[in-house]
Amino acid sequence: MIWSWWPDNWHDRYIGNDSVIFDHQDHFFELVDALSAIRVLARLPIEEVAEKDFLRQSLDALMAHQNLGQCSIFTAEEGLLQCAVGAGVDTFGGDGVSHQAESVESMRFVLGEGIMGLAYQTGQIQYCRNCKTDPRFKPFVRRALFYGDGSLLSIPVISGEQVLGVLNVSHHLPEFFETWHQHFLVLFANTLGRLLHLHRMIHALGDEVAVRTQSLEQALEESDALRNRYQQLSIKDELTGLYNRRYFFAEGEAMLARAVRYESPLSLLLIDVDHFKRVNDTWGHTVGDQVLCHIADTLLSEARTGDLVARLGGEEFVLILPNTASEGLDMMANRIQEQIASMGFGIVDQSIDLTVSIGMTELGARTSTELRVQLEQLYHEADLAMYQCKLNGRNRRMFFSREMDQIERMPSGV
Ligand code: GH3
Ligand code: MG
Ligand code: MG
Repeated sequence: MIWSWWPDNWHDRYIGNDSVIFDHQDHFFELVDALSAIRVLARLPIEEVAEKDFLRQSLDALMAHQNLGQCSIFTAEEGLLQCAVGAGVDTFGGDGVSHQAESVESMRFVLGEGIMGLAYQTGQIQYCRNCKTDPRFKPFVRRALFYGDGSLLSIPVISGEQVLGVLNVSHHLPEFFETWHQHFLVLFANTLGRLLHLHRMIHALGDEVAVRTQSLEQALEESDALRNRYQQLSIKDELTGLYNRRYFFAEGEAMLARAVRYESPLSLLLIDVDHFKRVNDTWGHTVGDQVLCHIADTLLSEARTGDLVARLGGEEFVLILPNTASEGLDMMANRIQEQIASMGFGIVDQSIDLTVSIGMTELGARTSTELRVQLEQLYHEADLAMYQCKLNGRNRRMFFSREMDQIERMPSGV
């Protein structure tokens, strides 16, 4: 259908006599008003508002510039025309009740049903000149939205080929809408359709960006957690959580450097569990692991801030104690022995006496030897002292002495 902007009898109406010229001016102002509605519509901030708010603002723009009884916008959702927004008050009908616009928002039509459904299905404006007599008109169930006399226009809200919904405007007078109304409302609904499509595109894009951002953030968090874990794994012993051999030598050098620089004492303490193999043999490897973890906890609880506790491997642990000389070192070793001896492992009647041998040494005269070599020397000294403990019946602690350097190593298990 082609809409003519001017009525068929435009010559008679607007040029033929004075009263028609007055009529013409009336229409002119109505037309300017109508165009203002489209201008307001086109300026709505679609990026910032939700769809429902955008549709409500669209209706407000229409109502503000038009003398219409009631307006609503229905959008197509899952095979239904669902009322998105309604504005104005239903002034139709005879029960004298004013149905507030909000009440229409729960209303829905099956596509193709009633005047509105027809507008959706055909993509063409539908004019119900009198709802009372038009058989196509389908009132809402029970509490009819339109009943009695009145006219209704249903205009498809279109974007390209797609019908997104229907704009409905009504008036309590039958035959109220003129050709220019229809033309204007088609223009309004088309603009609305394009903006609605744009709104959906922008917001779908926003949602997509939000989803992508979220999954990106999640991936970053996961990779951070993974990196932390690998960082920890590379410096920590997985079983006990103590620092590992690699970290011991790296951090040990730094501790040694500080002791050399500030001429402060530094001690090293090497602990080997006595007959640990028996623990495994008697209770199994899992219990053996638990024993190692308990020993690790004991060492940590005895250590002070600034001490370094590490597991060098197997059942061998090491501590570096800065600012600690032989006296403090011996006290510390004694406490460790007591703590471990009192741990009491085992099942009823089969408890194991857990003991440790501890080799001790202290940083001696300062030399210009490389730090790494000095640290290895300290470790070697403590190892010799610990070996002496084993030779002397285990469950003891000994300081390194020069003579120990001369003793030849015996095969392990002595
Ligand atoms: P000694 O008094 O001479 O030190 O005797 P020992 O049995 O403690 O020493 P040995 O070197 O003969 O045996 C050490 C045992 O420690 C053997 C090995 O299976 C066990 N072991 C090493 N690492 C682990 C571990 O991570 N978990 C468990 N459960 N056992 C371990
Ligand atoms: Mg051992
Ligand atoms: Mg050992």
